Amino acid sequence: MAPAQTSPECLFCRFVSREIEPDVVAETPHSLAFRDIEPQAPKHVLVVPKRHVENAGELAENPLELADVVGLARDVAASEGLDAGYRLVFNTGVEGGQAVFHAHLHVLGGRRMQWPPG
Ligand code: C5P
Repeated sequence: MAPAQTSPECLFCRFVSREIEPDVVAETPHSLAFRDIEPQAPKHVLVVPKRHVENAGELAENPLELADVVGLARDVAASEGLDAGYRLVFNTGVEGGQAVFHAHLHVLGGRRMQWPPG
C-alpha cells in the first residue's frame, strides 16, 4: 500500500501526524483509532485511514485500506468490550452528517442503538 499522504489543512491528518495528539486507542500501519471528543454513546471511537481521503466512497477505491479501517474498528469494539454489539457509521457528505472531510468510521456502543437514526 502507498505511504500515508496528509493534507496540512485537515484536522484528522494533524491527528495522524500527532501535530495534535488525539486520545489514541489503537493503530495499524494504515489506520488510526481515537476517542471522539464529543461521544454520542458510552463508547465512541473514530477509525481513520492515515492517508487523506475525503469520504468512504473514496476509501473504497482502495479495498485493502478499507478493510484495514473496518478490521481495526472490529478490534477496537472487541478491546472496548462491545461483545453485545455495536454500530459502525460512515457519515458521507453534508446531508449525511459529515463534518470532517477526512474519511472516518464511527464505532458506537455501550448502549442499545435506536433505529432509524436521527
Ligand atoms: O461524521 P462526522 O464528520 O460528523 O464526525 C466528525 C466527528 O469528529 C464528530 O463526532 C466529532 O465529535 C469528532 N471530532 C473529534 N475531535 C475534534 C473535532 C471533531 O473527535 N477535534
